Amino acid sequence: QKHALHLIAGHKPETPDGKTLKLGANISSYKELEIALSSGAQGVGLFRTEFLYMDRSRFPKEEEQFEVYRDVAVRLDGAPLTIRTLDIGGDKQLDYFELPEEDNPFLGFRAIRISLERTDLFKTQLRAILRASHYGTVKVMYPLISSVDEVRAANAVMNEAKRELEREGKPFDKNLKIGVMIEVPAAVMIADLLAQEVDFFSIGTNDLVQFTLAVDRMNESIAHLYEPYHPSIIRMLKATVDAAKRHGTTVGVCGELAGDVKALPLWLGLDVDEISMSAHSILPVKERLLRTKQSDSRQLLPQLLECATSADIVAELMRFMANHD
Ligand code: PEP
Ligand code: MG
Repeated sequence: QKHALHLIAGHKPETPDGKTLKLGANISSYKELEIALSSGAQGVGLFRTEFLYMDRSRFPKEEEQFEVYRDVAVRLDGAPLTIRTLDIGGDKQLDYFELPEEDNPFLGFRAIRISLERTDLFKTQLRAILRASHYGTVKVMYPLISSVDEVRAANAVMNEAKRELEREGKPFDKNLKIGVMIEVPAAVMIADLLAQEVDFFSIGTNDLVQFTLAVDRMNESIAHLYEPYHPSIIRMLKATVDAAKRHGTTVGVCGELAGDVKALPLWLGLDVDEISMSAHSILPVKERLLRTKQSDSRQLLPQLLECATSADIVAELMRFMANHD
């Protein structure tokens, strides 16, 4: 039986056979938080922090960042807030921070690569996040990770930030969870190694599709080749979730694919812990979740993994939706 969307915002995100799938919101400002909360999001699965750095003439100070992170954490009232560290570069530029001219900016100096080069900026952000963690359930997530070395280097700066705050007597959550985005094929291939370094994974399908298929996500002339349901992507998702589960690492998805209703059996079949999406997708996805059995989705998964083309995978998912409507 179908549910009226406005009635289910407060419903538990659970399948008829008892699988809970947390539905988080992707937000990039404090304003978007209200929309997410009224849609019944179970927290924020991806807080894009770039907006704090854009639309201004200098890097935001620790205090400015801390206040924003703290306000969001407080407003969430204990629900998790996953803050992604700065993911600048690629398509996103800062007026006051000269980045090199690059032939391939998406493969260039960006995201965690900038943070690890400019550890002064990185530590400022980590200190702000740590201080906010005292006011709610905050997690931190590093973008564009492609090696264990990067995670260790990032964690070294994190530990320095913690030691400083301890010395200064500033409180923070000692159990703050640290995760990485899985959005580069290299990270998928070493997911078992990364899983031993962090508390959680969040699969970023937007970049994972771009890099796996070698299709620029911004290039309209090849937009038809940007296929999130490509068999390689389904297999990458499976490999990532398997590695996470073997090591007891929590695994979620935060790319656009998470907000596509027809992908839901995929997440249930793979048994991910959380999906995070734009606020407007939460209720339609939850409506499906409330009447989709995980057991049916688990049966579908091997068929999806055998499909030879994107069209076959989409057809299987559409057939599943029609049969379980
Ligand atoms: C992603 O790459 O899937 C993602 C969630 O991050 P962004 O879209 O900000 O690159
Ligand atoms: Mg990304």
